[in-house]
Amino acid sequence: MSAIVTKFGGTSLADAEKFKQVAEIIKADPDRRYVVVSAPGKRFKGDFKITDMFYLCYEKAVSGENIDVLFDEISGRYREIISELGLSISVDRELDRIRNGMYNMTGRDYAASRGEYLNAIILSAYLGYDFIDAREVVFFNNDGSFNAEYTNDVMSARLKRHERAVFPGFYGAMPNGTIKTFSRGGSDITGSIVARAANARLYENWTDVSGFLMADPRIVDNPKVINTITYRELRELSYMGATVLHEDSIFPVQIAGIPINIKNTDRPEDRGTMIVAETPDYDTKNVITGIAGRKGFTAINISKDLMNVEVGFGRKVLGVLEKKNISFEHLPSGIDTMSVIVKSAEISGKLDYVLNGIQQEVCPDSISVEDDIALIAVVGRAMVKSKGTAAKVFKAIAEANINVKMIDQGSDELNIIIGIEDKDFEIAQRAIYSEFIKD
Ligand code: ADP
Ligand code: ASP
Ligand code: MG
Repeated sequence: MSAIVTKFGGTSLADAEKFKQVAEIIKADPDRRYVVVSAPGKRFKGDFKITDMFYLCYEKAVSGENIDVLFDEISGRYREIISELGLSISVDRELDRIRNGMYNMTGRDYAASRGEYLNAIILSAYLGYDFIDAREVVFFNNDGSFNAEYTNDVMSARLKRHERAVFPGFYGAMPNGTIKTFSRGGSDITGSIVARAANARLYENWTDVSGFLMADPRIVDNPKVINTITYRELRELSYMGATVLHEDSIFPVQIAGIPINIKNTDRPEDRGTMIVAETPDYDTKNVITGIAGRKGFTAINISKDLMNVEVGFGRKVLGVLEKKNISFEHLPSGIDTMSVIVKSAEISGKLDYVLNGIQQEVCPDSISVEDDIALIAVVGRAMVKSKGTAAKVFKAIAEANINVKMIDQGSDELNIIIGIEDKDFEIAQRAIYSEFIKD
C-alpha cells in the first residue's frame, strides 16, 4: 500500500473541534498513514499561536520574570483539547518537565518545539496511531544545517516498524542530542522529509486556504487559486513571501519526485494546488503563475568611474559582506554603478563596518544607503515562452504612480523582481495582479 503523508498546520489544529475535522480527513483515506503536525495556531482573530507563547515564555524565564500565568495559559489550551476530545491521557508530566526546562534554560529551540511535541502526542492518542518523536528521526549537523541523508536513512528504517504514526513537525536533534528547530513555518519541511522516507505517492499539506493563491489574500482581494505549480516556481514565491508553504520544503520531495497537494481543512472537497516537478500545461491567458513580495530590504549603492574595467571590484565588495556573514539578495549593476540588496535585519548593527570596509577595499566615488525597500516577485514558467510580460509589469507600476528602484530577471526567465519603496508594497501587488488577471 502506497502511503500518503499529511501535514496539518496550526490553524487546522487550533482546538478540539479542529482536531475532530482533522481526524475525519485522515480516516477518510486509509492511505493517510503518516501525519505531521504543527503546534496549535490562532483560534480567532487576536488569539495567540502556541509557538509564539512558548517563545515568550522562554524569554521571560531567561530574564528572570515569572512565567506562571503564561505557562498556565499554554497548559490550559492543551488540557482543554484533551478533555473536549474525551481522551483519558494526561500531559501533566510532560508539562512539568517543560516548565522546568524553561527555568533550566534548556534552550530557545527546545521551548518552541514543545508546541508540536505535545500536539503530536494528543493527536496520536486520538487517532490510535503511534507517536514518533522527531528528535529520534530528524537530524542536524554541528553547523546547524539539516543532515538530509542520515535523516532519510534513520527515518525510513523507523517507518518500516510503524504502520501508522504521528510526528511533531518543526524540530529535530543536534549531534549532541539537544533540540534544534527549522526556521518558522518549518513543520512543512518535516512533512516533506517524512514523505521522502515513506516513499509516499503524495504529500498533502493541509492549511486554512484552498491552495496556493496567485497573490497574498491579505493584500489582494480574493486571488485565484493556482491549479498546478512547479517546485521551482513555488520556491521563488515562498522565498519571496508567499508563506503558505516553507520555501525549503520542496527539497526532500523533489529528490523523490513526490507531488505536494495544498488542501483546505475547512473545505476538503476543494481540489487545492498540485506542486509537481514539471508540467506541460501553463496558463497561456494569464502568463504569470503568481505574485509575492517581502518588505525590509536595504540597498547599498556604490558608484565609481571606470568600475567596469576594475577587475575584482564585485568580489572585493562581496568579501566585506562575507566577513560579517551577510548574504546578498540581488546585485543590479550598471557600467560605473553597483547596488547590493540585503535583508535589513541581516545588516542591522553591521552597517558601519560594511560601509567602512567597502570604502577601504574599493575607494568608491560615492556610496549611499537606502532603507525601506520592498521586493516583489512576478513568477511564471510561461514567461520564457511569451513576450511582453515585463512591459505589462512596468505598465501596471507606472500607472499606479510607483517609482521602481531596482529590476532583476532570473537567468532562467522564471521571475521578474522589482524593488520599490516599502510604502508602495500593497498598491504595487494589487496593480500587477489586476493588470494580468482580467476576470
Ligand atoms: P499553516 O498554519 O496551515 O501552516 P500558514 O499560516 O503558514 O498556515 O499559511 C497559510 C496562510 O498563508 C494563509 O492563511 C494566507 O494568509 C497566507 N498566504 C500568503 N501568501 C499566500 C498565497 N500566495 N497563497 C495562499 N496563502 C497565502
Ligand atoms: N509552529 C511553528 C511556527 O509557528 C512551525 C510551523 O507552524 O510550521 O513557526
Ligand atoms: Mg505554515
